[in-house]
Amino acid sequence: MEAATGGEGVAPSPAELAVSAVQRPLEFAARDDFAHLDRVRDLESSVVASADRALELSIPRDLVAALRAVRDAFAAPLEDAQRRRTIERALQRLEPFAAVGYAERALATAPTVLPGLGPKRAEVLAKRGWTTIRDLLYLLPSRYDDRRALARIEDLEVGRHATFIGRVLGCGFGAWRGRGPSRGGRMFEAVLGDDSGTVNLKWFRGGDAISRIVRKDELLLVTGDVKRYRFSKELQHPEVEVLEAWAGGSESAAPRRIVPDYTTPEGLQPRALRAAVQRAVAEYADLVPALLPEALVRARNLPTPAAALRALHAPEADADVDALRSGSSPHHERLILEELYLLELGLALRRARRARARGIPIALEGPRTRAALRDLPFELTRAQLRAWHEIRADLARPHPMNRLLEGDVGCGKTVVAFLAAVAVAEAGHQTALMAPTELLAEQHHRTLQRLAQAERAAHLRLEIVTASQSRTHLEAVRAELESGGIDLVVGTHALLEEGVGFRSLGLVVVDEQHRFGVLQRAALKDKTAARQPHTLVMTATPIPRTLALTLYGDLDLSVIDELPPGRRAVRTLLVRAGEGRQVMDLLRDTLARGEQAYVVYPLIEASQKTDLRAARESCERIRAAFPRCAVDLLHGQLDAADRNAAMARFERGDTQILVATTVIEVGVDVANATLMIVEHAERFGLAQLHQLRGRVGRGERPGTCVLVARAVGDDSEARLAALLESSDGFAIAEADLRIRGPGEFLGTRQHGRLPDLRVADLARDVRLVAVARDAALETVRRDPGLHRASELARAVAARWGQRLALAEVG
Ligand code: ADP
Ligand code: MG
Repeated sequence: MEAATGGEGVAPSPAELAVSAVQRPLEFAARDDFAHLDRVRDLESSVVASADRALELSIPRDLVAALRAVRDAFAAPLEDAQRRRTIERALQRLEPFAAVGYAERALATAPTVLPGLGPKRAEVLAKRGWTTIRDLLYLLPSRYDDRRALARIEDLEVGRHATFIGRVLGCGFGAWRGRGPSRGGRMFEAVLGDDSGTVNLKWFRGGDAISRIVRKDELLLVTGDVKRYRFSKELQHPEVEVLEAWAGGSESAAPRRIVPDYTTPEGLQPRALRAAVQRAVAEYADLVPALLPEALVRARNLPTPAAALRALHAPEADADVDALRSGSSPHHERLILEELYLLELGLALRRARRARARGIPIALEGPRTRAALRDLPFELTRAQLRAWHEIRADLARPHPMNRLLEGDVGCGKTVVAFLAAVAVAEAGHQTALMAPTELLAEQHHRTLQRLAQAERAAHLRLEIVTASQSRTHLEAVRAELESGGIDLVVGTHALLEEGVGFRSLGLVVVDEQHRFGVLQRAALKDKTAARQPHTLVMTATPIPRTLALTLYGDLDLSVIDELPPGRRAVRTLLVRAGEGRQVMDLLRDTLARGEQAYVVYPLIEASQKTDLRAARESCERIRAAFPRCAVDLLHGQLDAADRNAAMARFERGDTQILVATTVIEVGVDVANATLMIVEHAERFGLAQLHQLRGRVGRGERPGTCVLVARAVGDDSEARLAALLESSDGFAIAEADLRIRGPGEFLGTRQHGRLPDLRVADLARDVRLVAVARDAALETVRRDPGLHRASELARAVAARWGQRLALAEVG
């Protein structure tokens, strides 16, 4: 097509192409003060022909008017002077539509430009966040009605959606009475019949309008849900079309169509929404640009976006209705790929930009790092080694590392971070490790201390910064960080954000734990801020790889998919309400063996008081049942010092049972704790449950996790089943994703991490995510800054510029 000759490799929308086809000969004729006017042959006929072609497109009415005016002006041969004026006027007329970004702006206009869509309806749409024509175009049908198959009235099935034809045998207003004193009113009713039987239609609202359409002896095409009323069948508020309009009401001429159905917001008629979308498609579809690489389009045999929109919103009679319904048609695929391609391009650009920043090259491991590796108290797993090699290679580069280290709880991420810290220290720089809570910071500190002591050669100078430490201690640590006396500092996100100065910060390790998606890269400053430190983000939420690559699109990914040897899977039991005896027995056995137990209660904002009360009561019950055991209650309303004290008591073994409402504090590692009881397990997310289960069985002795389900629905039942089936964090994450969808799964609603996609669904379309990603990487490889594809660069910037902070794109 013409697009390919543009040299940019990317076609603007069909409408823009068509406008420029009309404009080009006119511009040529007008160039250099009409110097070439004589040489332009057939100007009139070529303008008329290209205008006619443009007029066949789905374009806005003002463009239609402009094209018609131009076409009409050139319909007859023109005299010389007149010819010049006409050309000038035509160019003027076309100018707004030929300007850069015309289609983009037109698609961003409010839907009120559409006929039949007044401010009131627009307001209803706006409440849903649909404020532009583009929003309407991408509002894909949630269902398709197959009205090609007509039922006989006799065969109408109660409870089914059906389409049929019948003649109005009688109709009129009647009274209806409902239950309750004031219920009841006027309704419009019609009896329809064909040669097989009769059926009633009822309208409790809007009867006046219907009475003007539905009249005796008319032939109607009816679609709706069939219900039973006493001994007969009826349809309430069905959709009706009068067939008299088609060839004198003959049944065979009835329009047998596939009709799209939209999820309609309250306050809008389904018919009105459908009409608005149809208008938007008819007038704007060809303004949508086709951005996917031509090779991909050809390889997958995809329709254009405009054709896809038309096919989805106004399917042809011979369309594959199953493919439409399941969202697996090539039309869906085109729109999904277009959207994902733009997203992946944005991510690739952002990544490329970060990769160009100046970093701190850390020489490949010297003697200290080698010694640290050699002196570890255990052998690294293969997965740990692989991750370490990836990190080591990154550190050596003159650009900052941005890497996500993903791996299940207990897989040994901290060790890998430790090795990186030693390498950084050996090169004369510092490392900051940030944990989401003080308890976790303390836990990291202990793990690291153990490792640092195990290898004498590394001499890692290690410190921790917490809010509960004294001012003098904090001041001393600060001073040492500034002078370079500390190699590795551990603290919470918050503390390190408060402008701690480093002599030379070389590496920032962010432990996200399972608070996936929070990813606020801390603004850590050092005195040589011209160079950015390396960043390693650790997460214990296993995310399927393609999804991770998209969600964390600006990070490289290392996965530790293997647990250290000797770990046994935690036995998992599901207990229902009323089976409390079993739980108490398990608790008793555990305590008798000298082991410890957690009892975790959910706590959510909405029911905070009752949740906390439940935990308190349970704590009392347990105390009463085990008078010789020490039981502590840990919850979010305790201040940090009390929480720490309670945790410390549990770690020392001073308390045997820890009842807790907060999940994250349970993130610490107590090897002697072997029983995890999760109350109201149905109220926890799958990933959370998996994390909780990972708290036990960390030592020599096997662990048990008891999920107490109090009330279950389909979703929670599926979640619990997934947990019983598998102990593989990745498999569980996949299940979670399937059950809850990515938004919920990632807990990103609040954090806004998940880019809001219109048609694509990262979970459902994982396969297409990979396709789009490959295509985007290839595009960026060929044209790193998208400098040769201005249209594409503009589209990426318009769609993702702000979200991805792609300031310099476009
Ligand atoms: P994560 O941070 O990934 O949850 P940690 O790094 O805290 O895991 O490691 C969990 C425990 O496993 C720690 O006690 C650690 O010393 C131990 N560990 C780590 N790697 C290995 C290994 N390769 N072999 C044996 N034990 C290991
Ligand atoms: Mg950890």
